[in-house]
Amino acid sequence: MLDQLTGNERVKSLLRRMLETRRVPGAMLFTGEDGVGKKLFALELAKALNCRTPQGVEGCGRCPACRRTDKFNDPQSSDADDWKGIIWTDHPDVGMVVAPKRLLLVEQMRLVEREANYRPYEGNARVFLIEDADKLNEASANALLKVLEEPPHTSHIVLLTSHPDMLLPTIRSRCQMIRFSPVSPAEIEAHLLQNKIASPDEARIRARVARGSLGRAIAGGFDDYVRQRDSMLRVLKALAVSDDRLQLLRSAEEFNDARYKDEYESRLEILEALIRDAWLLSLHAPAEGVVNEDLLPELKKIGERLDSRRPADWISQIEELREQLVVNINRKAATDALLLTMAAAAPPLEKRRFQPR
Ligand SMILES: [Zn+2]
Repeated sequence: MLDQLTGNERVKSLLRRMLETRRVPGAMLFTGEDGVGKKLFALELAKALNCRTPQGVEGCGRCPACRRTDKFNDPQSSDADDWKGIIWTDHPDVGMVVAPKRLLLVEQMRLVEREANYRPYEGNARVFLIEDADKLNEASANALLKVLEEPPHTSHIVLLTSHPDMLLPTIRSRCQMIRFSPVSPAEIEAHLLQNKIASPDEARIRARVARGSLGRAIAGGFDDYVRQRDSMLRVLKALAVSDDRLQLLRSAEEFNDARYKDEYESRLEILEALIRDAWLLSLHAPAEGVVNEDLLPELKKIGERLDSRRPADWISQIEELREQLVVNINRKAATDALLLTMAAAAPPLEKRRFQPR
């Protein structure tokens, strides 16, 4: 049932309307941040189409058809060759393709086309999910065009992506686009509590730092998050309070440490969120807007010492670096430059303190 999914009420009503009027498009594009539920909604749609004991127009979630739709038979190995086929669920009419490496392949799209042209084996409809559809290149996108244009009325192809702008216009124009919104912190918190995923204190923090992604809030790694945040808090203190260049050098080294390679982007994101929080508090804004609410006393202290002209510069410098990450840049040089530029804007604290009013 759609009601059991968290968030995106507008999308739920839209899908219900499609089901009620029996106008579920053959080609759909689900867009929105990672972890907002695009895949779960697509599977719920598949259940609604194939359920044996539907509740109204929706899947019951309990019959064998619904239950099997939830179970993907992922290949056991990480060998790219094993991921080149359709990954079927236990339901013979519901499957998914994922990029084996960086791209979705022409042969995968031909497979989808071929399978989409078969009549359903068991249910009323065949449903194919294409995960990270932004990984279609020109060749694989072209291989998919024909079936997107006129899929058999019993087949539905759902493209999922958090980067719709990266799709070719020819693909976008053939799909009905459905936009997913970020899930609100309140909805995420309620979900974590109802499903006993986190204690009340932890749920509150997780919900706030997940930036609208339920998936991110659920995924483990909360301890990792806290560790990274501690480290970024040291950077912010060195910048805003102590003007501690040595600490900044150490932080730059940590940023570039091979062990933390995969954390690079999330560290930048966390640093940015901490800066925004301290900035908000320096302006005496209400604390509700603060993401890292559990650090309130500490962030307030930083906010009091913060020269309010600086955070905007810092944030734009971080954003600039994050944009450059899309292309291959020398991260070490970029991090050193970032921290130096951020520090450079800081007049030494002592001078500030003795400035005439
Ligand atoms: Zn069912």
